[in-house]
Amino acid sequence: MCRLYDPRAGHNGFDAARLFRLSWRDRPLRPIESNFMKLVPAIILAIAIVLAPVIWFALQWAVGDRGSYAGPAIDSQARIEIEILNQQVEDIRLRMEDIREGMAALGQEVRNRPAFQPQRPVLQQSAPTDGAEVFQQNGTNDIIDAYAQVVLIADRRNVNKGLKIAGGRYLTEKLGLPRQNLSDKCEPMTNPRLKSKLKTTQVGPIRVTMLQPALDSLARVFENVRITDPDLYARINTAGALCVRRIRGTTNRVSTHSFGLAVDLNIDGKLDTLGDGKTQLGLTILADFFRTEGWVWGASWRREDSMHFEISRKQLDQWLAEGKL
Ligand SMILES: [Zn+2]
Repeated sequence: MCRLYDPRAGHNGFDAARLFRLSWRDRPLRPIESNFMKLVPAIILAIAIVLAPVIWFALQWAVGDRGSYAGPAIDSQARIEIEILNQQVEDIRLRMEDIREGMAALGQEVRNRPAFQPQRPVLQQSAPTDGAEVFQQNGTNDIIDAYAQVVLIADRRNVNKGLKIAGGRYLTEKLGLPRQNLSDKCEPMTNPRLKSKLKTTQVGPIRVTMLQPALDSLARVFENVRITDPDLYARINTAGALCVRRIRGTTNRVSTHSFGLAVDLNIDGKLDTLGDGKTQLGLTILADFFRTEGWVWGASWRREDSMHFEISRKQLDQWLAEGKL
């Protein structure tokens, strides 16, 4: 029998029960206990060494897993994003409501609008000028709005695509000179054939002197503008139509204004700057109506003249063929 576990072993044997009953302080150490106690730090150290990797892996698992386990974090992120999206949807919904209300108010305003009354510019027509209409703007209008805004002319060299410019030489060839001696000033038309077709009248929002077929065509242009865009129509102003003279700076080239087949227009009486490649927004809109009626726009000239509209070669040929000129 092993003495170590013999309960009767007494003080000479290893009595475990007695050992645990005694406190460390008041219990004298026996040799075998003393040896065992000496081993305790080494055993603890050994256990620590053995467990160290295990603890390390356990910690790695716990920390690593917590790092990659982003479930609740993802949920929070998603919740935030969903909340932001909800806010945006709500914002859009409110804006749409505003737009709908605005549209309804606008519709009501349009329905309540009185019948359109074109604003006729006041022109003090002096004694008959015999074709020598003075180049001046008719009436004044200081309203600055989008139509009067000066904008760049997009692709201006191609604005008359499909239409050919008649030009002074072609017009002279077809109609004869409006008068024999041309100067730099506007002078009366003397060509009897042309003079018989010349008329000064109110056409749409402006009063002009032109040949009859051009007046009729201009009336159609303005009527289409009036129906489509009454606000623009009300702001159309003229800087003159007929002016029998040569082109300034030349000795024999006749201006197309000399034949009563060209008109200079602007919005609100603001004159266009020649050759800057820009024009009033309203004139770019008007140009579409003129092109439809067979007029060419001076915006495409080498030296841009965007207030200028004149009948195209095709239109002239048509009027000649129809016996209108
Ligand atoms: Zn002109």
